[in-house]
Amino acid sequence: MTTVPPPISFEIYPPRSDDGLPALYETIRHLAAIDPQFISVTFGAGGSTRDRSLGVLTHILRETSVPPLAHLTCVGSTYADAGAVIREFLDAGITRFLALRGDPPVGLGEDDAFLGDLESAAQLVQLIDRVQAERVPYAETPVPGLDRAAVVAPRERVQIAVAAFPNGHPRSRHAHEDIDALLAKEAAGATLAITQLFFRPDEYLDFVDRARTAGVRMPILPGIMPITSPARLRRVLELTGDARPADLGAALDQAGPGEAGRAVGTAHAAGLARAVLQGGAPGIHLYAFNNHDTVLAVLRAAGLCPEQEILV
Ligand code: FAD
Repeated sequence: MTTVPPPISFEIYPPRSDDGLPALYETIRHLAAIDPQFISVTFGAGGSTRDRSLGVLTHILRETSVPPLAHLTCVGSTYADAGAVIREFLDAGITRFLALRGDPPVGLGEDDAFLGDLESAAQLVQLIDRVQAERVPYAETPVPGLDRAAVVAPRERVQIAVAAFPNGHPRSRHAHEDIDALLAKEAAGATLAITQLFFRPDEYLDFVDRARTAGVRMPILPGIMPITSPARLRRVLELTGDARPADLGAALDQAGPGEAGRAVGTAHAAGLARAVLQGGAPGIHLYAFNNHDTVLAVLRAAGLCPEQEILV
Protein backbone atom coordinates (compact mmCIF):
# COMPACT_ATOMS: atom_id res chain seq x y z
CA MET A 1 0.00 0.00 0.00
CA THR A 2 1.38 3.46 -0.88
CA THR A 3 0.82 6.31 1.55
CA VAL A 4 -0.06 9.77 0.25
CA PRO A 5 2.65 12.27 1.26
CA PRO A 6 1.37 15.13 3.46
CA PRO A 7 1.00 18.58 1.85
CA ILE A 8 4.23 20.58 2.01
CA SER A 9 4.58 24.34 1.52
CA PHE A 10 7.45 26.83 1.71
CA GLU A 11 8.01 30.47 2.63
CA ILE A 12 10.57 32.62 0.81
CA TYR A 13 11.26 36.37 0.82
CA PRO A 14 12.03 38.85 -2.00
CA PRO A 15 15.76 39.62 -2.31
CA ARG A 16 17.02 43.11 -1.39
CA SER A 17 18.05 43.84 -4.97
CA ASP A 18 17.71 42.34 -8.47
CA ASP A 19 21.20 40.82 -8.06
CA GLY A 20 19.65 38.21 -5.77
CA LEU A 21 16.98 37.15 -8.26
CA PRO A 22 18.87 34.46 -10.26
CA ALA A 23 19.77 32.54 -7.08
CA LEU A 24 16.19 32.86 -5.80
CA TYR A 25 14.75 31.64 -9.12
CA GLU A 26 17.03 28.61 -8.88
CA THR A 27 15.77 27.95 -5.33
CA ILE A 28 12.17 28.27 -6.56
CA ARG A 29 12.92 25.74 -9.33
CA HIS A 30 14.18 23.21 -6.76
CA LEU A 31 11.30 23.82 -4.34
CA ALA A 32 8.70 23.59 -7.13
CA ALA A 33 10.13 20.21 -8.22
CA ILE A 34 8.65 18.47 -5.18
CA ASP A 35 5.18 19.82 -6.08
CA PRO A 36 4.37 21.77 -2.91
CA GLN A 37 0.83 22.99 -2.16
CA PHE A 38 2.01 26.60 -2.38
CA ILE A 39 5.06 28.83 -2.05
CA SER A 40 4.46 31.95 0.03
CA VAL A 41 6.35 35.23 -0.41
CA THR A 42 6.78 37.68 2.49
CA PHE A 43 5.81 41.37 2.32
CA GLY A 44 7.68 44.12 4.19
CA ALA A 45 5.48 45.86 6.78
CA GLY A 46 4.66 49.33 5.45
CA GLY A 47 4.80 48.04 1.87
CA SER A 48 8.59 48.32 1.59
CA THR A 49 8.84 45.21 -0.64
CA ARG A 50 5.57 45.63 -2.56
CA ASP A 51 7.03 45.58 -6.10
CA ARG A 52 9.70 42.99 -5.36
CA SER A 53 7.21 40.67 -3.59
CA LEU A 54 4.82 40.92 -6.55
CA GLY A 55 7.71 40.28 -8.97
CA VAL A 56 8.61 37.02 -7.19
CA LEU A 57 4.95 35.96 -6.95
CA THR A 58 4.36 36.49 -10.68
CA HIS A 59 7.58 34.58 -11.44
CA ILE A 60 6.20 31.59 -9.48
CA LEU A 61 2.85 31.95 -11.26
CA ARG A 62 4.38 32.04 -14.75
CA GLU A 63 7.32 29.68 -14.43
CA THR A 64 6.00 26.87 -12.19
CA SER A 65 2.79 24.93 -11.63
CA VAL A 66 2.84 25.80 -7.91
CA PRO A 67 0.27 28.34 -6.65
CA PRO A 68 1.95 31.42 -5.11
CA LEU A 69 0.58 32.78 -1.83
CA ALA A 70 1.10 36.49 -1.14
CA HIS A 71 1.73 37.79 2.38
CA LEU A 72 0.14 41.23 2.82
CA THR A 73 0.49 43.57 5.81
CA CYS A 74 -1.71 46.53 6.69
CA VAL A 75 0.13 48.42 9.46
CA GLY A 76 0.56 52.08 8.47
CA SER A 77 -1.83 51.81 5.48
CA THR A 78 -5.04 53.72 4.83
CA TYR A 79 -8.07 51.72 3.61
CA ALA A 80 -7.49 53.18 0.15
CA ASP A 81 -3.81 52.13 0.04
CA ALA A 82 -4.51 48.63 1.31
CA GLY A 83 -7.37 48.23 -1.19
CA ALA A 84 -5.12 49.40 -4.04
CA VAL A 85 -2.44 46.81 -3.18
CA ILE A 86 -5.04 44.01 -3.00
CA ARG A 87 -6.47 45.06 -6.40
CA GLU A 88 -2.98 45.15 -7.93
CA PHE A 89 -2.20 41.63 -6.65
CA LEU A 90 -5.58 40.26 -7.83
CA ASP A 91 -5.00 41.86 -11.26
CA ALA A 92 -1.67 40.00 -11.44
CA GLY A 93 -3.52 36.70 -10.95
CA ILE A 94 -2.76 36.13 -7.26
CA THR A 95 -5.65 34.33 -5.56
CA ARG A 96 -4.09 33.20 -2.26
CA PHE A 97 -3.16 35.59 0.51
CA LEU A 98 -1.74 35.54 4.04
CA ALA A 99 -3.37 38.52 5.78
CA LEU A 100 -1.15 40.06 8.48
CA ARG A 101 -1.20 43.18 10.52
CA GLY A 102 2.60 43.49 10.49
CA ASP A 103 4.76 45.23 13.07
CA PRO A 104 4.97 49.02 13.47
CA PRO A 105 8.37 50.52 12.51
CA VAL A 106 11.01 49.97 15.21
CA GLY A 107 10.70 52.64 17.89
CA LEU A 108 6.98 53.29 17.28
CA GLY A 109 4.55 51.87 19.83
CA GLU A 110 0.80 51.19 19.50
CA ASP A 111 -0.05 54.70 20.73
CA ASP A 112 2.41 56.58 18.52
CA ALA A 113 1.80 58.24 15.18
CA PHE A 114 -0.51 56.82 12.51
CA LEU A 115 -0.45 53.03 12.55
CA GLY A 116 -3.05 52.62 9.83
CA ASP A 117 -6.81 52.42 9.30
CA LEU A 118 -6.86 48.65 9.84
CA GLU A 119 -6.24 47.64 13.43
CA SER A 120 -5.82 43.90 13.01
CA ALA A 121 -5.23 41.12 10.55
CA ALA A 122 -8.92 40.18 10.87
CA GLN A 123 -9.87 43.53 9.31
CA LEU A 124 -7.46 42.90 6.42
CA VAL A 125 -9.10 39.49 5.86
CA GLN A 126 -12.46 41.27 5.48
CA LEU A 127 -10.99 43.88 3.16
CA ILE A 128 -9.43 41.28 0.84
CA ASP A 129 -12.79 39.48 0.63
CA ARG A 130 -14.65 42.75 -0.02
CA VAL A 131 -12.25 43.95 -2.72
CA GLN A 132 -12.55 40.63 -4.53
CA ALA A 133 -16.36 40.70 -4.24
CA GLU A 134 -16.41 44.21 -5.79
CA ARG A 135 -14.27 43.07 -8.72
CA VAL A 136 -16.00 39.74 -9.34
CA PRO A 137 -19.43 39.72 -7.68
CA TYR A 138 -20.38 36.41 -9.33
CA ALA A 139 -19.15 33.94 -11.96
CA GLU A 140 -20.85 33.66 -15.37
CA THR A 141 -20.62 30.53 -17.53
CA PRO A 142 -21.97 30.90 -21.11
CA VAL A 143 -24.69 28.38 -22.07
CA PRO A 144 -23.60 26.57 -25.27
CA GLY A 145 -26.07 27.11 -28.14
CA LEU A 146 -27.95 29.93 -26.39
CA ASP A 147 -26.77 33.30 -27.57
CA ARG A 148 -25.94 35.70 -24.71
CA ALA A 149 -27.32 33.29 -22.08
CA ALA A 150 -25.17 32.50 -19.06
CA VAL A 151 -25.42 30.51 -15.87
CA VAL A 152 -24.69 32.70 -12.88
CA ALA A 153 -22.95 31.05 -9.96
CA PRO A 154 -21.44 32.35 -6.73
CA ARG A 155 -17.90 33.64 -7.29
CA GLU A 156 -14.92 31.47 -6.41
CA ARG A 157 -13.52 33.03 -3.27
CA VAL A 158 -9.84 33.85 -2.85
CA GLN A 159 -8.11 31.81 -0.16
CA ILE A 160 -7.09 33.83 2.86
CA ALA A 161 -4.63 32.46 5.40
CA VAL A 162 -3.69 34.12 8.69
CA ALA A 163 -0.91 33.83 11.29
CA ALA A 164 -1.22 31.88 14.55
CA PHE A 165 1.10 31.94 17.55
CA PRO A 166 1.48 28.65 19.48
CA ASN A 167 3.84 30.25 22.04
CA GLY A 168 1.88 33.50 22.22
CA HIS A 169 2.37 36.75 20.32
CA PRO A 170 4.75 39.17 22.11
CA ARG A 171 1.84 41.67 22.28
CA SER A 172 -0.73 39.35 23.86
CA ARG A 173 -1.10 39.50 27.61
CA HIS A 174 -2.66 36.07 28.05
CA ALA A 175 -2.66 32.81 26.06
CA HIS A 176 -6.42 33.10 25.44
CA GLU A 177 -5.87 36.38 23.52
CA ASP A 178 -4.03 34.43 20.81
CA ILE A 179 -6.95 32.01 20.52
CA ASP A 180 -9.46 34.90 20.53
CA ALA A 181 -7.47 36.62 17.76
CA LEU A 182 -7.56 33.39 15.72
CA LEU A 183 -11.32 33.02 16.23
CA ALA A 184 -11.79 36.62 15.07
CA LYS A 185 -9.70 35.93 11.95
CA GLU A 186 -11.78 32.85 11.12
CA ALA A 187 -15.03 34.76 11.71
CA ALA A 188 -13.73 37.42 9.29
CA GLY A 189 -13.34 34.80 6.54
CA ALA A 190 -9.90 33.18 6.95
CA THR A 191 -9.71 29.58 5.77
CA LEU A 192 -6.21 28.55 6.91
CA ALA A 193 -3.85 29.42 9.76
CA ILE A 194 -0.05 29.14 9.51
CA THR A 195 1.88 29.13 12.77
CA GLN A 196 4.87 31.06 13.91
CA LEU A 197 7.85 28.74 14.48
CA PHE A 198 7.94 26.68 17.67
CA PHE A 199 10.57 24.41 19.21
CA ARG A 200 8.74 21.38 20.65
CA PRO A 201 5.88 19.35 19.09
CA ASP A 202 3.64 19.76 22.16
CA GLU A 203 3.77 23.57 21.80
CA TYR A 204 1.97 23.19 18.45
CA LEU A 205 -0.24 20.24 19.43
CA ASP A 206 -1.45 21.85 22.70
CA PHE A 207 -2.19 25.09 20.85
CA VAL A 208 -4.28 23.24 18.25
CA ASP A 209 -6.15 21.46 21.07
CA ARG A 210 -6.93 24.77 22.76
CA ALA A 211 -7.99 26.33 19.45
CA ARG A 212 -10.33 23.41 18.64
CA THR A 213 -11.86 23.54 22.13
CA ALA A 214 -12.53 27.26 21.61
CA GLY A 215 -14.24 26.55 18.28
CA VAL A 216 -11.55 27.23 15.63
CA ARG A 217 -12.35 24.95 12.65
CA MET A 218 -9.87 25.93 9.93
CA PRO A 219 -6.71 23.84 9.36
CA ILE A 220 -3.72 25.05 11.41
CA LEU A 221 -0.54 24.44 9.45
CA PRO A 222 2.64 24.12 11.56
CA GLY A 223 5.39 26.55 10.49
CA ILE A 224 8.76 24.83 10.94
CA MET A 225 12.07 26.66 10.73
CA PRO A 226 15.36 24.76 10.52
CA ILE A 227 17.62 26.60 12.97
CA THR A 228 21.12 25.86 11.81
CA SER A 229 23.42 28.09 13.89
CA PRO A 230 23.61 29.75 17.33
CA ALA A 231 23.36 33.16 15.60
CA ARG A 232 20.09 32.24 13.85
CA LEU A 233 18.66 30.96 17.15
CA ARG A 234 19.54 34.30 18.82
CA ARG A 235 17.86 36.31 16.02
CA VAL A 236 14.74 34.14 16.14
CA LEU A 237 14.41 34.52 19.93
CA GLU A 238 14.74 38.31 19.60
CA LEU A 239 11.88 38.27 17.09
CA THR A 240 9.48 35.92 18.87
CA GLY A 241 10.33 36.70 22.50
CA ASP A 242 10.33 32.93 23.21
CA ALA A 243 12.44 31.33 25.94
CA ARG A 244 15.66 29.72 24.69
CA PRO A 245 15.09 25.99 24.02
CA ALA A 246 17.80 24.47 26.26
CA ASP A 247 18.51 21.24 24.32
CA LEU A 248 18.58 22.78 20.85
CA GLY A 249 20.58 25.79 22.13
CA ALA A 250 23.24 23.54 23.72
CA ALA A 251 23.47 21.30 20.65
CA LEU A 252 23.91 24.32 18.33
CA ASP A 253 26.52 25.89 20.64
CA GLN A 254 28.48 22.66 20.63
CA ALA A 255 28.24 22.28 16.84
CA GLY A 256 28.93 25.94 16.00
CA PRO A 257 28.21 27.36 12.52
CA GLY A 258 28.82 25.42 9.27
CA GLU A 259 28.00 21.83 8.39
CA ALA A 260 27.77 20.55 11.98
CA GLY A 261 25.23 23.24 12.90
CA ARG A 262 23.28 22.56 9.75
CA ALA A 263 23.08 18.86 10.67
CA VAL A 264 21.76 19.73 14.16
CA GLY A 265 19.10 22.12 12.77
CA THR A 266 18.06 19.70 10.02
CA ALA A 267 17.64 16.78 12.43
CA HIS A 268 15.69 18.94 14.90
CA ALA A 269 13.31 20.27 12.22
CA ALA A 270 12.82 16.76 10.76
CA GLY A 271 11.96 15.39 14.21
CA LEU A 272 9.45 18.22 14.74
CA ALA A 273 7.85 17.57 11.34
CA ARG A 274 7.45 13.84 12.01
CA ALA A 275 6.03 14.40 15.51
CA VAL A 276 3.44 17.02 14.55
CA LEU A 277 2.28 14.95 11.57
CA GLN A 278 1.86 11.97 13.89
CA GLY A 279 -0.14 14.26 16.17
CA GLY A 280 -2.52 15.11 13.30
CA ALA A 281 -1.01 18.23 11.62
CA PRO A 282 -2.58 18.81 8.17
CA GLY A 283 0.81 19.35 6.46
CA ILE A 284 4.17 21.06 6.97
CA HIS A 285 5.06 24.67 6.13
CA LEU A 286 8.83 25.23 5.98
CA TYR A 287 10.59 28.57 6.35
CA ALA A 288 13.14 28.18 3.55
CA PHE A 289 15.29 31.33 4.04
CA ASN A 290 15.69 31.43 0.23
CA ASN A 291 17.76 28.26 0.33
CA HIS A 292 16.43 24.94 -0.96
CA ASP A 293 19.22 22.64 0.30
CA THR A 294 18.35 22.82 3.99
CA VAL A 295 14.55 22.48 3.74
CA LEU A 296 14.82 19.63 1.21
CA ALA A 297 17.32 17.93 3.55
CA VAL A 298 14.74 18.30 6.36
CA LEU A 299 12.07 16.64 4.20
CA ARG A 300 14.44 13.81 3.25
CA ALA A 301 15.45 13.26 6.88
CA ALA A 302 11.76 13.20 7.89
CA GLY A 303 10.98 10.67 5.13
CA LEU A 304 8.66 13.16 3.42
CA CYS A 305 10.42 13.58 0.10
CA PRO A 306 11.53 10.76 -2.22
CA GLU A 307 15.15 11.07 -3.36
CA GLN A 308 14.21 11.04 -7.08
CA GLU A 309 12.10 14.20 -6.72
CA ILE A 310 15.14 16.26 -5.78
CA LEU A 311 16.61 18.14 -8.77
CA VAL A 312 20.35 18.37 -9.16
P1 FAD B 1 -2.88 40.35 14.66
O1 FAD B 1 -3.58 39.06 14.52
O2 FAD B 1 -3.70 41.52 14.38
O3 FAD B 1 -2.30 40.41 16.13
C1 FAD B 1 -1.28 39.51 16.58
C2 FAD B 1 -1.47 39.09 18.05
O4 FAD B 1 -1.47 40.25 18.86
C3 FAD B 1 -2.74 38.35 18.34
O5 FAD B 1 -2.55 36.96 18.15
C4 FAD B 1 -3.00 38.71 19.76
O6 FAD B 1 -2.33 37.81 20.58
C5 FAD B 1 -2.37 40.04 19.90
N1 FAD B 1 -3.37 41.10 19.82
C6 FAD B 1 -3.77 41.74 18.73
N2 FAD B 1 -4.69 42.65 19.05
C7 FAD B 1 -4.84 42.55 20.37
C8 FAD B 1 -5.64 43.21 21.30
N3 FAD B 1 -6.46 44.16 20.91
N4 FAD B 1 -5.53 42.86 22.59
C9 FAD B 1 -4.66 41.90 22.95
N5 FAD B 1 -3.88 41.24 22.12
C10 FAD B 1 -3.98 41.55 20.85
N6 FAD B 1 5.44 40.24 9.10
C11 FAD B 1 5.70 41.00 8.00
O7 FAD B 1 5.95 42.21 8.14
N7 FAD B 1 5.72 40.47 6.74
C12 FAD B 1 5.45 39.16 6.51
O8 FAD B 1 5.43 38.72 5.35
C13 FAD B 1 5.16 38.32 7.65
N8 FAD B 1 4.87 37.01 7.48
C14 FAD B 1 4.51 36.25 8.58
C15 FAD B 1 4.15 34.90 8.39
C16 FAD B 1 3.77 34.11 9.47
C17 FAD B 1 3.35 32.67 9.23
C18 FAD B 1 3.78 34.67 10.79
C19 FAD B 1 3.40 33.81 11.97
C20 FAD B 1 4.17 35.99 10.99
C21 FAD B 1 4.53 36.80 9.90
N9 FAD B 1 4.88 38.15 10.06
C22 FAD B 1 5.17 38.92 8.95
C23 FAD B 1 4.95 38.75 11.40
C24 FAD B 1 3.63 39.42 11.81
O9 FAD B 1 3.35 40.52 10.96
C25 FAD B 1 3.80 39.91 13.24
O10 FAD B 1 3.88 38.80 14.11
C26 FAD B 1 2.73 40.87 13.71
O11 FAD B 1 3.13 41.41 14.97
C27 FAD B 1 1.37 40.22 13.97
O12 FAD B 1 0.68 40.05 12.84
P2 FAD B 1 -0.80 39.37 12.88
O13 FAD B 1 -1.26 39.37 11.51
O14 FAD B 1 -0.82 38.09 13.58
O15 FAD B 1 -1.60 40.45 13.75
